[in-house]
Amino acid sequence: MRVDVVSIFPEYLAPLDLSLIGKARRDGILDVRVHDLRDFAHDRHRTVDDSPFGGGAGMVMKPEPWAEALAAVAASGPAGDAVVPHLIVPGPGGVPFSQALARALADEPWLAFACGRYEGLDERVYEHAADRMPVTVVSLGDYVLNGGEVAVLAMVEAVARLLPGVVGNAESLVEESHEDGLLEYPVYTRPASWDDAGTVRGVPSVLLSGDHGAIAGWRHAQRLERTAARRPDLLPASATAGALADLDVRVATPADAAELLVLQRACWVREGLGALGRWVVPPLVEELPDVVAGLREWATYVARVRTADGSPGRLVASVRGRVRPVDATFWEVGRLMVAPDLQGRGLGRELLALGESLAPSSATGFWLTTGVLEEGNQRFYQRAGYRLVAGEPTHPGAVDLTKRRR
Ligand code: SAM
Repeated sequence: MRVDVVSIFPEYLAPLDLSLIGKARRDGILDVRVHDLRDFAHDRHRTVDDSPFGGGAGMVMKPEPWAEALAAVAASGPAGDAVVPHLIVPGPGGVPFSQALARALADEPWLAFACGRYEGLDERVYEHAADRMPVTVVSLGDYVLNGGEVAVLAMVEAVARLLPGVVGNAESLVEESHEDGLLEYPVYTRPASWDDAGTVRGVPSVLLSGDHGAIAGWRHAQRLERTAARRPDLLPASATAGALADLDVRVATPADAAELLVLQRACWVREGLGALGRWVVPPLVEELPDVVAGLREWATYVARVRTADGSPGRLVASVRGRVRPVDATFWEVGRLMVAPDLQGRGLGRELLALGESLAPSSATGFWLTTGVLEEGNQRFYQRAGYRLVAGEPTHPGAVDLTKRRR
């Protein structure tokens, strides 16, 4: 990939010679060329700025040096080729830079960056450039920097590390924060037990178990939990759409366990009467420690009624999901429950969609289990695209259903 950067502080871009990005340049994966904007200003003081029309604080970057600099960059492309760079102008008013944008830019053969300073570029520079090349204004975040150089360092690093051959282990890119729209799970290394000046800090035992299915499940649940805690805005849109939007939906914690137990008793009591003396219905026999243990094994969401003062309202619905322990290609959705007085309002459908949306990208299908006597539930799942699985069910008195992921 070719990258051109135009700046009045070319030395600001020196870190692009270091570490993996520097190595990518030396390996010929990345061709970075830094240009001094002042080389395109021809007065004695190599002036690139002037006061703003209409008055006001600060200075504005003049259009002529920019037009000349961009023409020089464009002309230095492959000889005889009509290829032009995609011009990225860093600016606090641009589209937010994101992992998705980094991925899109990593597919482009040539990027040029125009680093503004002062109050920014004369607006006509954007018009001039847009007549000649694709132009995108990109913001690093909702704050103001002194110049575009820091933003360019961040963007070039985020884009370049996605190029094949830049990061040694390409797999390490897959489960990072913002891939899949979630934050990364916590990571640990040796020692397994760290004596931190008298406080012994261990590592979650599942990571030492060697059980890869359990580890994948734990990691995915951690990603969901961390995202819900730190960046709820990133959670699947289904968590905040439709009738569910009227409720307060969040990842369950042990503090929710007692109400979850009450809710599951209420939701399964009818099935329990049908099963009476014939088989055991797990949601009816589990006790509080089982529900708490379930929270560790499954990513569980609970929905509460919103209250005027923001205090926790009644827990009225829940769904959970996990990588199916016996077959990691399936995402298992379970304990879909809506309080009896709120059933029939479409909440179940939305919860099912939420439960499915929690699946890792590696899952190729969904799996769920419901009561053999619960024909209404079976029809509900079949309407959602599930098909009955033939053969022995996972539990006595149950049927299994699956759906291919689209
Ligand atoms: N007056 C401009 C405004 O309010 O939008 C801010 C100009 S800023 C002081 C100078 C330069 O820093 C900008 O032209 C841009 O290149 C860069 N810059 C500042 N904040 C940025 C951000 N959040 N993302 C990307 N670039 C930024």
